[in-house]
Amino acid sequence: MEATKLSREEKESYAAGRTVAGIVNSIETLEGAGFLVRRPFPKASFSEFDPFLLLDEMGPMNVAPGAAKGAPDHPHRGFETVTYILSGEMQHKDSQGHAGKLSAGDVQWMTAGAGVVHSEMPSAEFQRTGGRLHGFQLWVNLPQQKKMMQPRYQEIPSASIPVARTDDGLVSVRVIAGESLGARAVIETVTPIMYLHFTLQPGGRVSQPVPQGYNAFAYVVDGEGLFGAEGERAGDGQMVMFVADGDEVMIANPADAGAPLEVLLIAGVPLNEPVVRYGPFVMNTEAEIYQAVEDYRSGRMGAINF
Ligand code: MN
Repeated sequence: MEATKLSREEKESYAAGRTVAGIVNSIETLEGAGFLVRRPFPKASFSEFDPFLLLDEMGPMNVAPGAAKGAPDHPHRGFETVTYILSGEMQHKDSQGHAGKLSAGDVQWMTAGAGVVHSEMPSAEFQRTGGRLHGFQLWVNLPQQKKMMQPRYQEIPSASIPVARTDDGLVSVRVIAGESLGARAVIETVTPIMYLHFTLQPGGRVSQPVPQGYNAFAYVVDGEGLFGAEGERAGDGQMVMFVADGDEVMIANPADAGAPLEVLLIAGVPLNEPVVRYGPFVMNTEAEIYQAVEDYRSGRMGAINF
């Protein structure tokens, strides 16, 4: 029966598709001055997903007027922090003189490199009005040779983030890093990184090329979907890790799903280097951590003075 056969294209994409290595639940924890985040990693049993060190989902939550919390002045060295806001407003300032307000859809890609002190606070306006808060922070490790690079700050407003769609219109993607559905990101990354935000309507399906050698995971922002060549099910707040056994990742939202599926697909080339982390510092050796603490205490990472 011709109608039940997979098309040749579908067969080929299944043959090339990665399978699922595991599905991880998030834990809830307090960050900064006490805001609740959902965190798939790091946790005791799962400290990193090379080259990624942390993923936090802030909210979604409704914040009362005056009750918004943030992370006041604190340092980072040795990696990058990537902040993506879906709802709410955050004000950033750092010791390099950068300041920016992040609103819905905006991305900030901060390369701490040799060291910055920054603050991540609700904007004055959001603090006054309160409202819905939802966002993500990803930590991307830097290779040993780049850990002490000059700090870099990239702020990409929502309107500058490329958006692409599948031909059937059921899947759209915001391309924060890397390439998808013919669109290429505007952000420069230090090592090859893919950071895609997919929205799949019921019946939508996508095969995203992920080069051999990249570690890849998906994080379900909302809804429930099918992942990998065998269509494993995962939902809101779960992280799906893929085996590096193919060069495509499949994501689908079943036709009978009642809601869109929102997914972050994040991938990068592993560094395969020792990771020594101490709070906001991530280096290769303990001696480098002592040096980072000393440099911060003696003011060599600067201060926010504007
Ligand atoms: Mn920070």
